[in-house]
Amino acid sequence: MNSKDTQNTQNQSARKIVQDFLSTNMNETLSSEQIASYTAQIKQLLSANNAVLVAHYYTDPLIQALAEETGGCVSDSLEMARFGKEHPAETLIVAGVKFMGETAKILTPHKRVLMPTLEATCSLDIGCPIDEFSEFCDQHPDRTVVVYANTSAAVKARADWVVTSSIAVDVIDHLDANGEKILWAPDKHLGDYVSRQTGADVLLWDGACIVHEEFKAKGIEDLKLLYPEAAVLVHPESPASVVELADVAGSTSQLINAAKTMDKEQFIVATDQGIFYKMQQLCPDKEFIVAPTAGSGATCRSCANCPWMAMNSLESIVHVLENGGNEIFVDQALGERAMKPLTRMLNFSANKAKQKVGA
Ligand code: SF4
Repeated sequence: MNSKDTQNTQNQSARKIVQDFLSTNMNETLSSEQIASYTAQIKQLLSANNAVLVAHYYTDPLIQALAEETGGCVSDSLEMARFGKEHPAETLIVAGVKFMGETAKILTPHKRVLMPTLEATCSLDIGCPIDEFSEFCDQHPDRTVVVYANTSAAVKARADWVVTSSIAVDVIDHLDANGEKILWAPDKHLGDYVSRQTGADVLLWDGACIVHEEFKAKGIEDLKLLYPEAAVLVHPESPASVVELADVAGSTSQLINAAKTMDKEQFIVATDQGIFYKMQQLCPDKEFIVAPTAGSGATCRSCANCPWMAMNSLESIVHVLENGGNEIFVDQALGERAMKPLTRMLNFSANKAKQKVGA
């Protein structure tokens, strides 16, 4: 089996895990009374546990709203990591997918990190097992190893750098300027994008996000005929043919900023629909349209919804706060090794921010 077959098999098995989980675990839509009750319980429990809620832009809007209301954070994975590290709370409730909880634990080993579910993973993480990845690195010792944040603690520990999509182009540009050749994992589309943006020599691992890979250029072109004035916003985990149609390609934070600052009334958005909560909150008078994920004959017109992010729910947050379950543990030695490339990223990002202020 070649690496492409392996990746396809891993993606199919990942989809099955999620479908099984959703069919047995997801509750019916909550009534407004249930939402009010869960919300009140979570507020009280956060305070009683000296805990703070850190949520990703792709989680349920109810969770995002609650994180904001309770002094927590709603953001991309880079900012989630920074916020959790700097916040004084003893317990972090990380609503997102598993690598985000692990990252929080690596950066703050003395804190208790709980997640609403431990089942929520990511096709990129699943598609990059440490043994195969390590072998790949060993075959290319002349390359600097850069991994996306969507990876296990073990893969991070094997890397020279960790990056998120908001900082990836800047880091690769910096390494390229130093004459370094790059080994990139796991997202081949994002890796291809940063390679094209920077001109760097980038060797790609063959992984993909099952949500972003579904966006279709043809579908977006058709939608543009209906909304000719709309700007197209694309996350670069999408295929190159989709990124080519973008007025702005970038991380979740960069897309939200584009929605806010661009002089446009309508946007076609190719990323997870959870982001609409923040876009609509910041731009109540603008219209956001989900980019199509359907190809010819497909049944899904707008599946832009990460099934793992959808596993986070108000009920599960109440449950972990009451019972202290779903705690994230990372082996100490592994965590110390993974901390180095993560800290490198945070320092690089902080210096970049300082330079912008000074410019
Ligand atoms: S949207 Fe894609 S990259 Fe993000 S957590 Fe889900 S599967 Fe992973």
